[in-house]
Amino acid sequence: MRKLELHWRILIGMVLGILFGFGMTYVEWGKDFVLDWINPLGSIFVKLLKLIAIPLILASLIKGISDLKDISKFRNIGLRTIAIYIGTTIIAISIGLILVNLLKPGEGISEDTIAKLTETYSSDSGVTSKLEEASRQKDSGPLQFLEDMVPDNAIKALGDNSLMLQVIFFTIFMGISMLLIGEEKAKPLKDFFDALNDIVLKMVDLIMLTAPVAVFALLANVVATSGDPDLLIALLKYAGVVTLGLLLMIVFYSIVVTSFTRYSPWKFLKEMSPAQLLAFSTSSSAATLPVTMERVEEHIGVDKEVSSFVLPVGATINMDGTSLYQGVAAVFIAQALGFDLSFSGQLTIVLTALLASIGSAAVPGAGMVMLVIVLEAIGFPQDKLAIGLALIFAVDRPLDMLRTVVNVTGDACVAMMVAKSVGKLGKPKVKNWDDNYDKVK
Ligand code: ASP
Repeated sequence: MRKLELHWRILIGMVLGILFGFGMTYVEWGKDFVLDWINPLGSIFVKLLKLIAIPLILASLIKGISDLKDISKFRNIGLRTIAIYIGTTIIAISIGLILVNLLKPGEGISEDTIAKLTETYSSDSGVTSKLEEASRQKDSGPLQFLEDMVPDNAIKALGDNSLMLQVIFFTIFMGISMLLIGEEKAKPLKDFFDALNDIVLKMVDLIMLTAPVAVFALLANVVATSGDPDLLIALLKYAGVVTLGLLLMIVFYSIVVTSFTRYSPWKFLKEMSPAQLLAFSTSSSAATLPVTMERVEEHIGVDKEVSSFVLPVGATINMDGTSLYQGVAAVFIAQALGFDLSFSGQLTIVLTALLASIGSAAVPGAGMVMLVIVLEAIGFPQDKLAIGLALIFAVDRPLDMLRTVVNVTGDACVAMMVAKSVGKLGKPKVKNWDDNYDKVK
């Protein structure tokens, strides 16, 4: 088992987890058993990844900025990153909209299925909580997101994983101030963060040793606790359209990576596969972030000066998979419920799904909360929102897993593009967890 490459080990864990979870659905006590005895292993793993996310962003971003030696470079990286992120997201939404309009998955869905889905899910706590969350988010003003980005308490920001943009703001502010006081004075702090950065990356290596077991637990839990399989089958066409769109995005990234950086697309996908498999298993780009950073820096060769900014920002604001899904889901719901959607309605979807992808949290199911806001923007009747969400709720988890893979892959692709454009894509330097083990064992 040790000799096998990491992505194979993770894949084996995933397949075994799916089979085990499936087997447990046939046993009366199976679901409880998985919840009580298997799921905690997965939750601990996700907690460990989240535990190191903030120290990693802090240390690597400070190191990245202080290595720059020139603030104007940072402005270059920043502007390019945001522009490319917006570009890829618009492409993703457009692909979704083209597919859903061509293939019309909502038109084939029968009245019976709609009635059954509505009855099963429209008052389900999963759906109602999404609606409540959406109405909380909607009540904010247009510049609220800027205001939210600025912390009033650094310690509080560092203490809350959902405040990632605040941490990034604080860290950039501090990094730039470090450049301004001059290299000599900043050296002690820079050395401190350099060491912290190496330590946290080592922690990623150690956590990843447990990844195969953790994904087993995560997937066993997803399968054992999933809903009625008949309903999943009824939504197969819709799920197929989203999946096809997501696959096209992966093809798009591969083409972009090859044409911009001359990097082999297979190698890109292979090096990113552990992060992609974790994105799939955890449904959270935030939880996957430490692994994404480790893969992009150590295995692909993107300089920390670029990856330390592009990836954390991407995990929070760049969600191509999520916005593609929002486009498809909004039109699917409109088609199924006979809501007329004009061309300008579709353009509204492009704009709101773009903003929604920036506003969506990088956690499981966040895309569905923002979908409510997309639906409201196209004038979808308020009283039918719960029915709309009920229609797609049954397949949301598997689609969430897939769109998170695309979200993470998109961030990595943009990191490579930005790195190449500023001459910061170098040779990878892989570090293993036991490089120094002999000296300390
Ligand atoms: N789970 C997704 C992510 O973390 C967000 C979403 O689409 O729900 O990237």
